[in-house]
Order: sequence, then C-alpha cells, then structure tokens
Amino acid sequence: MPAPTDAVSAGEAALLRKASDIFVATFKRSPTAAAAAPGRVNLIGDHVDYCEGFVLPVALPFLTVVVGANNDTSSCRVVSMLDSGRKEATFPTPSSGQLKPGEPAWANYVKGVVANFPGAVKGFDAVIVSDLPMGAGLSSSASVEVATYTLLEALTGTNTDPVKKAQLWQKAEHEFPGMPCGIMDQYVVTMAKKDHALFIDCRSLENTQVPITNGDTVILVINSNVKHQLTGSEYPQRRAQCQKAAELLGFPSLRNATRELVEDLRRKKCDVDVVKRAQHVVEEIRRTEECAKSLRVGDLEHVGKLFYESHETLRNLMEVSCPELDQLVAIAKTVQGVYGARMTGGGFGGSAVVLVKNAAVEQLKSRILSEYKGKPTFLVAVPSDGARKLNI
Ligand code: ADP
Ligand code: MG
Repeated sequence: MPAPTDAVSAGEAALLRKASDIFVATFKRSPTAAAAAPGRVNLIGDHVDYCEGFVLPVALPFLTVVVGANNDTSSCRVVSMLDSGRKEATFPTPSSGQLKPGEPAWANYVKGVVANFPGAVKGFDAVIVSDLPMGAGLSSSASVEVATYTLLEALTGTNTDPVKKAQLWQKAEHEFPGMPCGIMDQYVVTMAKKDHALFIDCRSLENTQVPITNGDTVILVINSNVKHQLTGSEYPQRRAQCQKAAELLGFPSLRNATRELVEDLRRKKCDVDVVKRAQHVVEEIRRTEECAKSLRVGDLEHVGKLFYESHETLRNLMEVSCPELDQLVAIAKTVQGVYGARMTGGGFGGSAVVLVKNAAVEQLKSRILSEYKGKPTFLVAVPSDGARKLNI
C-alpha cells in the first residue's frame, strides 16, 4: 500500500470509465468520442521557453480525460470534476456567439481552445476528469487544453500538424486565462513518448527524444502543496524583463545572448533585475543542453549537479523560488542516493523534481515527511506518452 502522501495515477481506463459514467448520468446518452492528455514535469530549463531556449520535460502518467458528443444545438456544455467539486459551464459555439474570457475561470481553458480551433465546432457536451494535481506546476492547464482539442479533433474528424497545434494552444492560454506562457507545456503534452524526455528547441520548435533508460533511478516529484498568489503578476514580469534584456542586446530573444554580453549589461549599469534574469537564462540554456547530453550517456552525477545549479539561479537570479521549495531541495541534498533536486515549473510554489536512486526513495520521503514544514505529496514521474484519442 502506498503511503497516503503518495499520489497514484488512477490510470487511463479508470478515468475513461468515470468520465463516461458521469456523461451518461448528466446527458442521458453515451459519449461518442474520448481523448486523454498528460501533465508534465520539466527536468531542467525553466523560465527559458519564452526566451527561445532549450527545455527538457517528460510527460507524466497522470492524465486529463475528456469524453463528449455533439448535441445538435449551438451550445457547448461542459462538466469538469475539479478539486473543489463538480462544476458546469455553458457557452456558445464560435459561429453562434462571441467567445470571451470570463467566469468561471476554469472554463477559460476549454473556451480558449474552442475559440481557436481551426475547424467548425458544432455544439457539444463534454465531461472532464483528471488525476493531475492542479496548480502544482505540473501543467494541468496544458493538459486540459490539449485533451479538449484532441476531443474536438475526434468530434470533427480533423487532424492538425502537432507544432501548429502547440502554437494554437499557447495562443489560447494567452488570450483566455490570460497567462503569457511559453510553448513548452502544450508541446510536450502532445509530443512526449513513453520512456523518453523531450528535448525541445523553443526557437526552431524542433524536438529530440532522449531515452531515459536507467532502471535504478526514479524521477520523484514532490508537490509542496503551496501556491503563492504571486504567480499571476510575477510570471509576466519575468517575461518582460527577459524581453527587455534581449532588446538591450539587440536580439529578438535571449537565445543569442552569452555570459560576456550579459556582463557588458552589468558593466553598463543596466537595471539590476534585468541583468540577473538574463544571467539565469543564459546559464540555464547551456545547462539544459548539457543535461540532455549527460542523460543520454547515463552520467547521472552530472545531471544532478546541473539540477542543483539550476535551482540556485532560479532562486537567486530569476527569483521565482519560495521558502517551501528551497527547503525541499535543501533536505533532498542531504540524503544519500539523491543525484540532484530543483524547483520545477514557473515557481512561487508548485513542485520540486528530484533524481534519486531507487534504493534511496523511502529514506528521502521519510526525511521530507519529518522535516518539511508543509504537507508534501509524492508522485513518481514515469516518463509517459503524450495526448491521444481514446477508443470508446
Ligand atoms: P498548473 O498548470 O501548473 O496545474 P495553472 O495555474 O497553470 O497550474 O492551471 C491550473 C488551472 O487550470 C486550474 O485552476 C483550472 O482553472 C484549470 N484546470 C486544470 N485542470 C482542469 C480540469 N481538469 N478541468 C477544468 N479546468 C482545469
Ligand atoms: Mg499551467
């Protein structure tokens, strides 16, 4: 039996059954299509996707599953089982009314996708269920967007180029929930492959699958279970500061920047925060490339060292960590068998990711449980497949 602090994936079949049962009970008929999309954890490369850098995420075995059917009306009726209970929202199809962001907030993630879908969306009913923690830095937002889009593809019989889709979802998240996210989340949630991390070049949008083969090692996600409200205002500010640094250097993004150029900005007495953000980005892009290479050759000691360095600059230069994440990383660092640990995702709460020997996992968990000031949840990040249509 897992400890109560372990999050265990319900699995695709159980989620599909649950969603279908709720659909039948709500809409008094069966769904005709279904889709699933995972969450993700980024191994390294945070706050660099919007700077056209490299990122290295894996998809999780934790999923959003959505089932649906056309309803011969001009309305979209959506039920979602959120942490806070069952919620419902109704909005018009794009051809019958103007779709705008609004209340309830969760429905914006669905509406944004419907509004940006390239085909003609007819009225539909849908039920969304998920076993992904929400707001934990594991991209439940991209997961629900991509699952919804994949359902719409099944309902309309269309298929879109995966890279185009990721760009479209990114646009949906910018316009509807109003989060100026980079491309990483939607991209990996679509393109991920079982037993691989996905190395993404966020400038060319090319990707490379990096095999994760070492069976003696676990990627352990520790959800701090805190989410500081800062995320909403601080994330766009970081993005703007990075853009400012790129402009000062005369580049379209910080991808082209170097340590020397950042030092020049410092010497010229440019805004201290802008220089710090740029330094993190330049270092993190280099680290992410190095980390993918080290993973390929199984040099986990080096991967771990890069994890710690990444956490340091996210904390001190990007300034997106928080005491809870710092404490989780500090505890992990003292446990034998841990290669490395770092905060992951946007920051200000959410999760830490730890690369740890199988044999040391229980020791790590018990140390976290006895020393961490908050209430942690553990989740094993078995690298999993990306979004897919499901047979129903
Ligand atoms: P993260 O993506 O790290 O989980 P975000 O704050 O970006 O955190 O997104 C979380 C929000 O996404 C939730 O508060 C909710 O509004 C929306 N969301 C996530 N999962 C679902 C779902 N299954 N159904 C409806 N909305 C969801
Ligand atoms: Mg998100």
